Amino acid sequence: MSESSETLKPMLIGGEWIAQDDAAFDSVNPATGVRNYRISAASDAQVDQAVQAAWQAQRQPAWRDMLPHQRAAILRRIADGMDQNASLLAQLQMIENGKVWAECKAQVASAAATFRYYAGVCETLGAEVTPARGNYLSMTHYDPYGVVVAITPWNSPLTMEAQKVAPALAAGNAVILKPSEVTSSPALALGRIALEAGLPPGILNVVTGLGATVGRRLVEHPGVRMVSFTGGTGSGRAIAHAAAEKLMPVALELGGKSPHIVFADADQDAAIDGVIGGIFEGSGQSCVAGSRLYVQRGIAQAFIEKLVARAGRLKVDLPDAEGAQMGPIASFGHREKIESMVDGARREGAEVLLGGARPEGKALEAGAFYRPTILGGLSRDAHVVREEIFGPVLCALIFDDEDDLVEQANDSAYGLASGIWTADYRRAWRIARRLEAGSVWINTYKQLSISTPFGGFKQSGIGREKGVSGLRLYQQSKGIYFGM
Ligand code: NAD
Repeated sequence: MSESSETLKPMLIGGEWIAQDDAAFDSVNPATGVRNYRISAASDAQVDQAVQAAWQAQRQPAWRDMLPHQRAAILRRIADGMDQNASLLAQLQMIENGKVWAECKAQVASAAATFRYYAGVCETLGAEVTPARGNYLSMTHYDPYGVVVAITPWNSPLTMEAQKVAPALAAGNAVILKPSEVTSSPALALGRIALEAGLPPGILNVVTGLGATVGRRLVEHPGVRMVSFTGGTGSGRAIAHAAAEKLMPVALELGGKSPHIVFADADQDAAIDGVIGGIFEGSGQSCVAGSRLYVQRGIAQAFIEKLVARAGRLKVDLPDAEGAQMGPIASFGHREKIESMVDGARREGAEVLLGGARPEGKALEAGAFYRPTILGGLSRDAHVVREEIFGPVLCALIFDDEDDLVEQANDSAYGLASGIWTADYRRAWRIARRLEAGSVWINTYKQLSISTPFGGFKQSGIGREKGVSGLRLYQQSKGIYFGM
């Protein structure tokens, strides 16, 4: 990459690259603490300009009347562009959020696959002829909203961005993408790839800046007709309030505190691997992290001892180091938050079974590293059991029987995901239906697919992304009647 730490990255508005120095902010590599480059922060006028550019482009016949298979062809070329730039995109993500190289590469491949999936949906999804109840022909047709704003978090930027941008474009909208201030560059690179793929200028705009200023102004803008947001529950609530004022639809993918359940009859080796991957992959910075472990009482002590021993062998290292399994936390500020939550747990009487500290040694000293951490001896009301930590911290809890388990697992404000390990498929089915969660994994964890709708129960969100219906999220239906 040619950027120096002095580079100011411009935004993409109406097909033009626009730098804005006022209020520009630093992108910092969390593995080293060194500045990568600086990122433009959009002024109020530039937010207005982006909304205007998006509307103008969306109304042009070149986009408005483009046939679905032609839109699909552009989406496929964007996917090809992502594949051709896979190393660059993975590198940008790695130096901004510190995820290990293998995961960054996998996420780029998954994002490209999402564009291909929605290309397929775009050219095969039809309108419907509805049963007539008189002398007429009636249809349900689907219109785009017009200008859609997509706001994304930093943990898996490109996959989240693809999950919103691909279906929103397939649906015929113009999109303004506002990436997290921690991971602005993958989105900017996606904007360049989309232009090169032949997407008309102004159809995808990438506007950078802070959530509380640029994000908020975009959400409140009268020209924006729909917002698709992934991020924390607090931010989601603020966006829902703003959307209520405008009576604007929103899709909200929010936080989680997902229960990961191990019954006494489970394949324990497989369950331990599943629990470790479920919480420590991505340093625990995953919305679906299995952060509350429930082990059945009979096996609890032995299971947790084995789990602690195996998790203690995870390799915490620089994200591009050979064999690294856990990189740093994505920012120094976020590590502080994790540390303060673990300290709070100690004060509430938690027993630190593993970690609870930064790794030792010079090599990782400059980065925002934190060791895999397992806490025991917690009451179900402890803060760390109730609140999302979004870090490599697992709360180990015990249950007696199915009723006790379901009661504890559902005793949460969140309802994003859950996992069950058992050899008894009837029990798995019973529990899966009783859990209040948008995803349930049985004898596996964190298995995600673009073809399966995803979203949260309770305070984990509103709406479902992915799948065929993930395209309809960005359209509104219209009844059309032909008198006969
Ligand atoms: P965050 O809510 O702080 O920020 C997310 C995005 O929203 C950023 O782009 C930010 O700039 C913007 N933003 C913040 N406040 C805003 C406001 N008032 N108006 C408009 N935009 C605003 O979240 P984060 O720290 O970037 O990400 C971590 C959170 O995201 C965790 O809670 C995690 O569980 C959640 N998450 C959820 C999913 C899911 O699919 N459910 C996936 C990944 C992450």
